[in-house]
Amino acid sequence: MSGSSDSGATARPGPAARAGAVTAAAEALFDEVTRQAAEACGARIAALSVVESGHQWFKSRGPLGASETTRLLRLCAETIRTRDGVVFADLDADERFASKGDAKGLRFFAGVPIWTSRAGAIGTLSVLDGAPRESTGDTLERLRELAREAARQFDIRLGGQEVLAQGERIAHGDRSPAGMLTEAEYRRLVEQSAVGTYVIQNERFRYANPRLAEILGYDATDLHGAEVAPLVFADDRAGVLARLRGQFLADEQPAHTFRAVRRDGRVVHVEVHETPAQLDGRGALFGTLLDVTERVRAEAQAAERALVDPLTRLPNRIRFLERLETELAQSRRYNRKLAVVHLDLDGFKFVNDTWGHATGDRLLQSLALRLTRGVREVDTIARIGSDEFLILVPDLKQSGDMSTFAQKLLGLMGRPVEVDDRSLQVTASVGVATFPEDGQDAEELLRNADAAMYRAKDNGGNTFELCTPELTALAVERLELQNGMRVALDKDEFVLHYQPLVSLGSGRIVGLEALIRWQHPQRGFLSPATFIPLAEETGLILPLGTWVLKVATAQLKKWIDMGLMLRMSVNFSARQFRERGLVSIVDDALTRSSLEPKHLEVEITESIAMEGAEIVVANLNTLRQMGVGIAIDDFGTGYSSMSYLKSFPVTSLKIDKSFVTDLPTNPADAGIVRAIVEMAHGSRLSVIAEGVETRDQFQLLQKYGCDEMQGYWVSRPLPVEGIEQKLQEEQAFWSQGAAGA
Ligand code: C2E
Ligand code: MG
Ligand code: MG
Repeated sequence: MSGSSDSGATARPGPAARAGAVTAAAEALFDEVTRQAAEACGARIAALSVVESGHQWFKSRGPLGASETTRLLRLCAETIRTRDGVVFADLDADERFASKGDAKGLRFFAGVPIWTSRAGAIGTLSVLDGAPRESTGDTLERLRELAREAARQFDIRLGGQEVLAQGERIAHGDRSPAGMLTEAEYRRLVEQSAVGTYVIQNERFRYANPRLAEILGYDATDLHGAEVAPLVFADDRAGVLARLRGQFLADEQPAHTFRAVRRDGRVVHVEVHETPAQLDGRGALFGTLLDVTERVRAEAQAAERALVDPLTRLPNRIRFLERLETELAQSRRYNRKLAVVHLDLDGFKFVNDTWGHATGDRLLQSLALRLTRGVREVDTIARIGSDEFLILVPDLKQSGDMSTFAQKLLGLMGRPVEVDDRSLQVTASVGVATFPEDGQDAEELLRNADAAMYRAKDNGGNTFELCTPELTALAVERLELQNGMRVALDKDEFVLHYQPLVSLGSGRIVGLEALIRWQHPQRGFLSPATFIPLAEETGLILPLGTWVLKVATAQLKKWIDMGLMLRMSVNFSARQFRERGLVSIVDDALTRSSLEPKHLEVEITESIAMEGAEIVVANLNTLRQMGVGIAIDDFGTGYSSMSYLKSFPVTSLKIDKSFVTDLPTNPADAGIVRAIVEMAHGSRLSVIAEGVETRDQFQLLQKYGCDEMQGYWVSRPLPVEGIEQKLQEEQAFWSQGAAGA
C-alpha cells in the first residue's frame, strides 16, 4: 500500500487547496489515456470523466454530441456505483439509459471507475460505440489496467510524491547487501512507516507504530496495551470485535473499513488489512491501518454528484426515480395522489443550431431556475435529457389541480428569456400522469406521462395533455409493437411492396420505390407510419433498414436479369444516416446482388440533410461518389430552405404529396411546384411528384415540366407478383408498340 492518507496533523494540502490539482496539469494525460483506451478496446469513442472538488472534467476522443454528454455522465455515475465497472452491450436494451429519438445514438458502453488511493473514485474511464457490441471479456480488464495507471498518475498529482519518496527511501536506503534486513532495520521500517501498523492480542494493542497513534491522535506509547474497543465508533464496534474474535475469516474480506474515534473525539474512517498469526503460542492479529476519511468523503460527494445534472444542478433521472419510489410508497400507505409531469421544450434544437450550444446551455439554466422558482418546495424537478424535465408533484389534492399546474408551467416556459443580450423564446409540451389513476408504479407513470407529452407535441406543442385511459392504452400499444418488432424480423413478418415511378415524358415505368409493410400475426398489414418511428426509437431501424436494402437490391437484380430495366428507391431514416457503417452496408448489399450503384437511389428527408452533421454529410458524399442516387423525400415539408441543396450531393427532389393534392384548385401550390421545378432544373436535379391520384394532377405536373411521378393514379404499392405482372405487361405493350410502329 503506497498510498497513505492525510491526517489533520500533517501539513499536506487540504481538499480546497487541492482543487484543480488533478485537472490543471493533466490535460496531456487525459489525451493519452483516452487514446490508449480507444485503441486497446477497438472503440470509436473513449471518454474520461473526472469529478474533483466542484470541478467536472470531461474529455472524449471521438465524436460525441452535447446531448450525449449528459447521458454519459449518468452512465459514469452508474459506473462509480458499481465500483468495478459495467458494460452495456446495448444501451437501448436498458430503459434507464436508452436514447431518446433525438440523441445521436450511443449504443455500447463499457466503463470502469478510476480509484485513487488519495481521493477514492474520482472519475471514470469508458469506451463507447454507436452500435451495440458483444462485450468481450477483456474490455473491462483492459480499461481497469488503464484506469489503474491513470489513478497512479492522479495520485501523484494529488500530492503523493512525498509518500512515494518516503517509501522509496525506506525500500532502497537501508537495504543490507544480501537483500535481507536486520531486525533493527525491520523495526525502523515499521516505526517510520507511513501506514498505521499494529499487533492485537486479547482485544488489546500489543504493538502500535507511531503512525497509528498519530492517526488516532495519541502519543506513540499511549496505545501499547490499550483496549481496542473504546477506539471504535460505537455503531461499528460489534463488527470490529467479531473480527478480533476470529469470526472475520467468515466473510473473507481482506480489508474492512470502519469508523474510529480519535482522542479529541473526532471520527475518522479507517481501512484495515489484517492477518491472523501466532504470537507466544496464542492467537494474534497483525494489521495495517489507513486513514481513508477523505476518500470516504470524496466518495460520498461523488455519489451525491452522480445524482445531479451538472448543467442545471437539478436532480437527474436516478435521483428523480428514487424520490418517486419514496413518494409512491407514502402515497400508497396514506391513500394520497401524486402526479408525474413530463415537460419537453419545443424547438430547443433550433436554438442550439442557430445560436450555438453555449447559448442553448444558458437558456436551459435560466429555464431550470424558473421552473424551480415556479413550483412548490416539495415538488421535485429533474432534468433527464437535453431539453427534457420531469416534475414530481406529491400529495395532490384533486387531479383537477393538474390542468392549472400544467397551464402555469406553459406560462413559465413561454415567456422570453434574456440570454447573451438576446431575447429567446421557446415553448414546452407537457404531459401529466397521476397516481393512482394513470399508473400503479413508477414505470407506468413515467411511460404514461411521456405518452401524454408526445400527444401534446403532436398537437403542435405549447400545450399540455393529461393522461387518459385511451392514451394509456396507446402507450401500452407502443410498447407491445416495439417488443413485437424485435421478433418480427426473425419471423419474416416484414415484406416489401413496390410502387412504380413513371416518367412524365414517356409514360414508362422508370423506377420502383420499396415500401415496407409488417404482416402482423394479429393485426394484419401495418403501415410503416405506425412502426418506423418506434423502430427509430429502439434502434431496430438499423437491422430493419439493412434488411430492406438487402431484399430490395436482390429483387431488383432479379428483375434486371429478366430484362425489366429499372431503378430502385429505398427509404432511409435519419438514424441510419448517422451510422458510420452505413456506406459499407450499402456497398455490401450492392456487391451481394451484383448491382451497379447507379441502379440504387437513396431517399432521405430534408431534415436529415439539414442536420448537417459531419457524419451525415460524409455518408452522403461517399454514397454519391460510389454512384448511388440521392433523393430528398417529402420535399417542401421541412425547412424548405433550398440553399442547403447546393452543399449536398443530391440528384433528385420528391415533391411532397401535400402540394400535389390541391394542384388543380390551389394557385399557391401550383406556384410552389413550378418554382421547385425551375429551381431543381437550374441545379440539374430531377423532380418527382408524389401522391398523384388524378388525371388533372398528372397533366398539370406534365405541363410544369416535372420529370417523374408516383401515385395511386398509376399504381398503388404492390407485392412482388403484382409488380412483376405490371412490368411484364408494360414491356409487352412497348415492344408491341415498337413493332407496330
Ligand atoms: P414516403 O417515402 O414518402 O412514401 C410514399 C408514401 O405515400 C407511401 O406510404 C405510399 O404508399 C404513399 N402513396 C403513394 N402514392 C400515393 C397516392 O397517390 N395517394 C396517397 N394518399 N398515398 C400515396 P407508405 O407505404 O405508408 O409509407 C409511408 C412512409 O413510411 C414512407 O413515406 C417512408 O417515409 C416510410 N417508409 C416506408 N418504407 C420504409 C423503409 O423501408 N424504411 C424507412 N426508413 N422508411 C420507410
Ligand atoms: Mg420515400
Ligand atoms: Mg414521400
